[in-house]
Amino acid sequence: MKLDFDLRFKILETSGIYSNRFGIEEPKVLLTTREVLEMPREMTEGRRTSAYKYLGVSYMQHNMIFLNVRKMPDEKTLQNTIVHELIHLRFPYLSHGKRFNKLVRQGLAGKTFVPYKRRKKITQN
Ligand SMILES: [Zn+2]
Repeated sequence: MKLDFDLRFKILETSGIYSNRFGIEEPKVLLTTREVLEMPREMTEGRRTSAYKYLGVSYMQHNMIFLNVRKMPDEKTLQNTIVHELIHLRFPYLSHGKRFNKLVRQGLAGKTFVPYKRRKKITQN
């Protein structure tokens, strides 16, 4: 898809709506590989020069996602990828799999999630 001003605006709007529903702070959204490369190295570590290979990347430690808009064929893919990456931010302990996919489907269907709370550290004696 061609990334123009209107699409950029729409993506940020969509990201904001889903972030609210998922109880997460709105992430910084990168929309081109150039923007990925312009970020400080430590923020994109592990998925920097390889980011172009993916439809999307979440940089969980930095509350930031990359949406590879140029690689996407249509709006449906875009929407799926936005929700996929935001589900990563909301459920950072979950890896890909059945449960993850179910959450993505629920997210796409409009489900809301209560904010993620880190469990208190259990002290060992
Ligand atoms: Zn993923």
